[in-house]
Amino acid sequence: MPEGHTVHRIANSFAQHFLGKTVTISSPQGRFAKEARAISGQVLRRSYAVGKQMFLEFENDLTLRIHLGIYGKWQFHDSKTKPKVVGQVRARFSHGQTHVDLRGPTVCEVIDQPAVEEVLQRLGPDPLNPNPREAESNRFIKKVRSSSTEIGRLLMNQEVISGIGNVYRAELLFRHGVEPHTPGKALSEQQLIEIWQDSVRLLKVGVKTSFMITRDELFAKHPSKEDRNWVYKREGQPCRSCGAEIKIELMASRKLYWCPTCQA
Ligand SMILES: [Zn+2]
Repeated sequence: MPEGHTVHRIANSFAQHFLGKTVTISSPQGRFAKEARAISGQVLRRSYAVGKQMFLEFENDLTLRIHLGIYGKWQFHDSKTKPKVVGQVRARFSHGQTHVDLRGPTVCEVIDQPAVEEVLQRLGPDPLNPNPREAESNRFIKKVRSSSTEIGRLLMNQEVISGIGNVYRAELLFRHGVEPHTPGKALSEQQLIEIWQDSVRLLKVGVKTSFMITRDELFAKHPSKEDRNWVYKREGQPCRSCGAEIKIELMASRKLYWCPTCQA
């Protein structure tokens, strides 16, 4: 499943290609045909992401909400002629030479403004939402400190912080030397401020490079997958910092990686 940085990148691409333009929307597969008609031919007013969800707001005040889930995928085409439809294309967006296909999303629905507000209320603060960043970070700290749930679970809960997935969870905890089973309320405000600020930093690197690089010395490089992270997918291997064996366990239904020495 893509983490927040990927969704923000797609929202940026949509803005770049379609903002202020009339977008033709169809549903080659048919499942989205009726809803597509409600927004097709409208001007795209805003394209944004909150956590792992993307919102396309049109001139007629209707918004398309998309959540890729595990199987959803985007495909951008640059073509003078309409690209051939391959497989189950739920929605196709076109303007000029740009055609974008959406396949297999968990959510693809047209909603009105009050419904958008409702969704946004439910979503936790997003480190990539710059405005107002301080309010967002305060919301995060409050949610974590009022919970006795393990921090490794809280970071995967989109109501606590949105946009963080399995890679960033493991890496953030390692970077701050936090034992993943620590209850949220046992963490200090200062620790949480630092984790939040670091998540802003890491997600920004992700948006810029499209890679989830979490080792500072590699931010500006093009590290291979094996080199990008401290603990993610490194179970059984020596910790890059202390040499201890990296551990693995299932937490919040996803594999969690951590160093038992650095994160004691
Ligand atoms: Zn270590």
